[in-house]
Amino acid sequence: MVVETDIAVVGAGGGGAVLALALAQKGIKTIVLERAPGPPQGLRGEILQPNGQQVLDQLGLLNKLPSESTRTVHKFHFCRVGGERLCTVDYGDLPPPYNRAVVTLPNVAHHAILSAIEQEPSVSLRYRSTFTGLLRDQGRVVGLTAKQDDAELTIKAKVVVGADGAFSKVRDALQIPAELHLYPQGYLIALLDASIPLEEAKYFVGKKTILGMFPAAGGKVYAFYMIKAGSYDHVKALGLPALQEAWTKIDPSSEPIFRTLTDWKHTAFMPTGRVRTPTWVADGAVLIGDAAHAMNPHASQGRMQAMVDAMTLAELLPDCLATNDYSAAKLRAYETLRRPQVTMLQKLADEQVLFWNTANPVIAFLRDRVFSTLDRNARLRYRVLSTTAGLRKDAPFGMMDRLMAAGFLPDPSARDMAAGGAR
Ligand SMILES: Cc1cc2nc3c(=O)[nH]c(=O)nc-3n(C[C@H](O)[C@H](O)[C@H](O)COP(=O)(O)OP(=O)(O)OC[C@H]3O[C@@H](n4cnc5c(N)ncnc54)[C@H](O)[C@@H]3O)c2cc1C
Repeated sequence: MVVETDIAVVGAGGGGAVLALALAQKGIKTIVLERAPGPPQGLRGEILQPNGQQVLDQLGLLNKLPSESTRTVHKFHFCRVGGERLCTVDYGDLPPPYNRAVVTLPNVAHHAILSAIEQEPSVSLRYRSTFTGLLRDQGRVVGLTAKQDDAELTIKAKVVVGADGAFSKVRDALQIPAELHLYPQGYLIALLDASIPLEEAKYFVGKKTILGMFPAAGGKVYAFYMIKAGSYDHVKALGLPALQEAWTKIDPSSEPIFRTLTDWKHTAFMPTGRVRTPTWVADGAVLIGDAAHAMNPHASQGRMQAMVDAMTLAELLPDCLATNDYSAAKLRAYETLRRPQVTMLQKLADEQVLFWNTANPVIAFLRDRVFSTLDRNARLRYRVLSTTAGLRKDAPFGMMDRLMAAGFLPDPSARDMAAGGAR
């Protein structure tokens, strides 16, 4: 079967789904191919940072998220393993209305976006459809081929968007070289019951130990526990009591919550990776999200950045269609706007990997010292918060800031949040 469209998007994940909806709201004809059989159902932890909330608001969805599935969190306490608090970050310091983090039950925001797409006449969302190759004419991309169930599909499109994740096949077909780094650690995620109240988020760091606990809606709590990539089956073989004991050593006060984990089906493993590519655009094609720039989840921004990519590209594509210009030179305007923030976040997340995931006692000492400084230094704390919130494009710390954060230099503006960028 041969079909024609303006934009063909491969992947209906965090980036592709937002792009399809944003284009639909502009009346642009779009086909989205998704290899999965339907909307995702699996366990995954989701924190909507302020920039992601803003995107959902622009799409008219933020206030439509079911209140029974979302939970507002203001404070994140960073603690040493064992319980000692090092630093508290308060989202309430950010400018309203997005001065909070929103923790949703698994896939809630994504399902809302996919349902909204289904209502849009200009978008065709095709599940069980796998990208197989690109169509080219004199070097430029003019469409793609795919398999929907067992049927061959040819889609002629003015622009093909690769939103197909870190292992992007669109990127491969474009012959865009990619440096794909798989981190040695990933995360065991668990959905627990809040058998005792957990009002605010807690994040424990130790020697090669990280445990995050985030209150979610419906009396639930997400746990994010760093484990070695490839060790999920081993952790399972050791049994639930061993895992609960390990967590209780990290946070003794939450033992009753850990005890609510009674079945491995309430857990999942998420690997972590980083993608770097020299370009995100080609003649007639674009990469967005993890396909272009996957990052370590310490940034808490991977999905948010995929969403912001989508919104930025959706602003550019109407002009491409109006001028009939789908060249790499034209599409590069999107990359130029997006690259600085993404590159900064990738670097920041990698620094956090170095300091947060460490087993080295000296590095761990320095990390804890930085956390303690941040607790007292409103300027630097605001810089970090606004970066994680997705509101900064440049790095939170310069060289002098680093020396101050590590406690080697005094900071005369330590109490001045406005000097950190707060308004
Ligand atoms: C442990 C962990 C925690 C995280 N926490 C956060 C967080 O707190 N905040 C945050 O913002 N981000 C977080 N992330 C990152 C986030 O999950 C990703 O960055 C985000 O999902 C990227 O969106 P995407 O649309 O680019 O790719 P994906 O969401 O991976 O979507 C790609 C889609 O393409 C489809 N696809 C792939 N290949 C094909 C093909 N050949 N044909 C058709 N379809 C195809 C896939 O089925 C999938 O639906 C976390 C990641 C991990 C691992």
